[in-house]
This record gives sequence, structure tokens and C-alpha cells, in this order.
Amino acid sequence: MAASKAAARARAVRPAATATLMALHEGIVYGPVRSRRLGRSLGINLTPAHLKLCTFNCSYCQYGWSAHSRRTATPAFEHWPSPSAVAKAVASAIRALSAQGERLDRLTLAGHGEPTLHPKFREVVRALRAVRDDLAPGVPLAVLSNASTLEQAEVREALAALDERYMKLDAGDTATLRTVNGATMTVEQVIAGLKKVPDIVIQSMFVRDRTGRIDNTGDLTVINWVGALDRIRPKAVQVYTIDRIPAFPYLQQVPAARLLEIAQRVRLAGFRCDVYGVPEALAGPDKA
Ligand code: SF4
Repeated sequence: MAASKAAARARAVRPAATATLMALHEGIVYGPVRSRRLGRSLGINLTPAHLKLCTFNCSYCQYGWSAHSRRTATPAFEHWPSPSAVAKAVASAIRALSAQGERLDRLTLAGHGEPTLHPKFREVVRALRAVRDDLAPGVPLAVLSNASTLEQAEVREALAALDERYMKLDAGDTATLRTVNGATMTVEQVIAGLKKVPDIVIQSMFVRDRTGRIDNTGDLTVINWVGALDRIRPKAVQVYTIDRIPAFPYLQQVPAARLLEIAQRVRLAGFRCDVYGVPEALAGPDKA
């Protein structure tokens, strides 16, 4: 009951998306994007063109609010790209970039939504591995996921077949998960799923708004989050704050000093932690 009230409150204050948000992708491949965390990354969008499709509704999402969270809700969802269409688009982009002498650091499944929602995610991963092995051997195949679909064994199996798994965890308690990420699941469900996926990097966005209603930077919230990390045992943690226009326009960047304090708590708990969004010289010993 309390949870549904919290979700209703989160929905009630969502203002309309603005024109300055990131545009949705036209097709399957985008970039290469110069990413703070992934280097020169060729983005792969698995959600239907022009449709943001996500199980979460993050306050900081650069693509705006999620209009859809279930893949069967509208006929448009029939327009998922097929595994062969994804492979063909990525192969063509790699060939074109290679002809221009461009280097890639990663091939990254991300895009405007949750990539593991693709109904044939396992086949997509299989097809992409074949393309990578053939045309870009040595370039890691990565995913950015919100960790909301990990109760499905076939999603976990597909994730395990990738080279790098960057999994979102912005909160260690359900109330914060709801306000920051607009999630309907509990943090216990997210943690249970993350514990089943091997060799993950946790990526955590820290944000707050002027009212304090959305805020995952407070001491107690951070303690809960570090407790969740301790249960998940990731191989590394990435901490950062917004650097693009967020869905909720009143969010603020977290000062570098606070990000560094948060990172220090992660390191004291025994995990590698890289900080993004602070001057390189301050980022600390774990910054690559
Ligand atoms: S999980 Fe990613 S795509 Fe989904 S709402 Fe959050 S930031 Fe946006």
C-alpha cells in the first residue's frame, strides 16, 4: 500500500518532457559515442525506432519519461528489429568505420530503453557475437542494463555470453528506487537478480532535486546502497552524476566532493570504484 502511494506520488510530479531531451534513435546503430565510461562506443538500440521502451522511468533519463513498459501493450511493439537485422546493421557500421580508419573501444547494447526486453535477446547476442568475432575481434561486446529482467533465466544466459555487463543500481532501498528510477519492483528483487549474474560492473547515478524529494545522496541512503553492493559483490562500481538534460527538469548535478565521499565509502567496503563527472586529478586511485 505504501509502495503504491509512493509510486503514485512519483507519477504525480512528473512534468512534461522538454524539447531539449536526447532524440530517440532512428535506427539500430548510433554513434560511435564518446562515452565517459566506455570510450569510443558503437551504440546498438534494440527497441523499436522512435519508441522509448523501458521497465524503469528514471528521473534522470536523457530520453524523457517512459511511455511504455511492456512489450505486448501496443501493435508498435511488433516492430522490434530481428536478430538478423541487428547483425546486418552492426556489420555494416563496423565495415564503414573501418574503411574510414576509425577505431572502436566497444560495441554496446544500450539505446532508448532496456535492451533485455527484446523478445529474442538471446538470439540477438548470439548474432552479435558472430559479427564481432568476424569483423571486430578483440572489441568487447557490452550491455547497459537496468537489471529489471534478471528473473528470466534466458536473459541471464544471454548476459553471461557478453564480454561486459554494466548494471544499474542507484539505490539500496525500495523507496529510493521508486523515486529515482520510477521502478515498480522492489530493491530486493533487483538485488536477487544481480547476485545471479557473473562479473558485473555496477553503474550508479547520483542525483537530487531542490526539494529533496528525489535524492539518493543522503547518508542513510548511501549506507543502504553500499549494503546492497556488499550482497551483490560486483567486480567494480562506477559512480557519476548527470551531464545531460534529465526527464525531471529540476534534478541537479551532485557536487564532485559528494561523489568522491560516496566513492570512498565503496572503496572502504572493498570494491574498486571509478568516479565520473569530477576533474581527472580528483577521481582517485581507481580511475582508469
Ligand atoms: S533504465 Fe535507462 S532507459 Fe530506462 S528509464 Fe532509466 S535511464 Fe532511461
